[in-house]
Amino acid sequence: MTNIILLGPPGAGKGTQAGHLVESRNLVQLSTGDMLREAKSSGTEMGNMVAGVMARGELVTDEIVIGLIREKLETVKADGFIFDGFPRTLAQADALGDLLAENGETLDAVIELQVDDETLVQRIVNRAAEAVAAGGEARADDNEESVRIRLMEYYKKTAPLIGYYHAKGNLSSVDGLGEIVEVQEAIAGVVEA
Ligand code: AMP
Repeated sequence: MTNIILLGPPGAGKGTQAGHLVESRNLVQLSTGDMLREAKSSGTEMGNMVAGVMARGELVTDEIVIGLIREKLETVKADGFIFDGFPRTLAQADALGDLLAENGETLDAVIELQVDDETLVQRIVNRAAEAVAAGGEARADDNEESVRIRLMEYYKKTAPLIGYYHAKGNLSSVDGLGEIVEVQEAIAGVVEA
């Protein structure tokens, strides 16, 4: 099994890079953001409960997202998992460690994608515009106000995970500013090592 966390602020490229790892290594992507958006669009009780929190750009409770991940780890068979957008708090990181240990699994790598704030905001604004240009709808949280809150949530609650995983010895940092393929190559280098 290969278990990898992609860590980084909103707009860092976690989803894009997770998609590539899925194709090239037969891993399953676990994106709590995708799971929550799915719950929201299918109108489940939990989906309705989290919709406002997500639209504002705040974090959903640890209990909810840990529950989502627990269920996937119990039911999905895979050669390994890419965690995309999870964990986002220290409590989630501890819970993930416990869940993996319960299944006799370990974490192989935590890859931090480094991108400056100005680029992050620009990427998210572009993503929203592209969604609309393609005839769809932008994500409810891809607006400037929510992006500011998402960044603040990242620095307050998620960035401490960088130190946490550094101390555990499995952190690698990758420059997330280059072309998509360049970042892919840098990540592949970490995964192979
Ligand atoms: P994402 O698609 O990863 O950018 O997540 C979109 C939104 O879903 C976040 O801004 C949060 O509101 C919520 N969310 C996703 N993953 C988590 C998580 N691990 N913990 C708390 N909230 C989350």
